[in-house]
Amino acid sequence: MKRNEFIKISALSGISLAIFPQFSFKYFSNEFTRNQLIGKGNPDIVGDSYTSRMHKATKKAFNKMKAAAAEENIKIEVVSAYRSFQRQKEIFERKYRQFTSQGLSSGKAIEKIIEYSTIPGTSRHHWGTDIDIIDANAPRPSHVLMPEHFHGTGPFCKLKMWLDEHATTFGFFEVYTDNGNRKGFKYEPWHFSFAPISIPMLKSFQETIDVKNMLSEEKILGNAYFSDAFIQKYTSENILDINPKLLSKFHITLRIFAI
Ligand SMILES: [Zn+2]
Repeated sequence: MKRNEFIKISALSGISLAIFPQFSFKYFSNEFTRNQLIGKGNPDIVGDSYTSRMHKATKKAFNKMKAAAAEENIKIEVVSAYRSFQRQKEIFERKYRQFTSQGLSSGKAIEKIIEYSTIPGTSRHHWGTDIDIIDANAPRPSHVLMPEHFHGTGPFCKLKMWLDEHATTFGFFEVYTDNGNRKGFKYEPWHFSFAPISIPMLKSFQETIDVKNMLSEEKILGNAYFSDAFIQKYTSENILDINPKLLSKFHITLRIFAI
């Protein structure tokens, strides 16, 4: 007797495995701890410096992408990779102190900070999946992470064109795209995310982290400004208004028929 058994695999694991069959199911089980999601420790992070620390699966894929780019005379250099909660807190609070001492209100200071920097606990760099990259074979401008360096006659144009064509083959997607309708963080042509891990991490983050509670527990400077309305806007614009390919809702359900 023939029996069709319909098994629903989570939308996420289905498509991720279809695109990246080399990754095992364990990365798609959504078993991420609070600490892993907010940058307070992750046993899968390897590396010994802020430019080399990444999730081990990210690093493996990155090394392959780097080797492929090297064949085109592009030397991919990581400017920033995994960043801990503590590091992000230092960055955020340094800017907060600087802006408020210049006379900005708490709210204005925070709005200015979040044009480019995240609130601690909410950075994709906490996951070890996201990297900021440039081309070390190109002339190095004084401030490397500027969009204009990646366009026109900018030094990182060659890298940008190569990434546009090849990065997704290795699982890396641009996060903060150049889409005029996108809100949240500004365009970052240097910031790429390793989708097979970052998609389930974002999903898990959405399901398990109460951002407002987390920020008040962590006693972040400027905490009084983090109202429900602010957190709601920050979540929908800064955390979720990204390249739609990095959102799990765009993933499909796989059907497996067993006989
Ligand atoms: Zn970045």
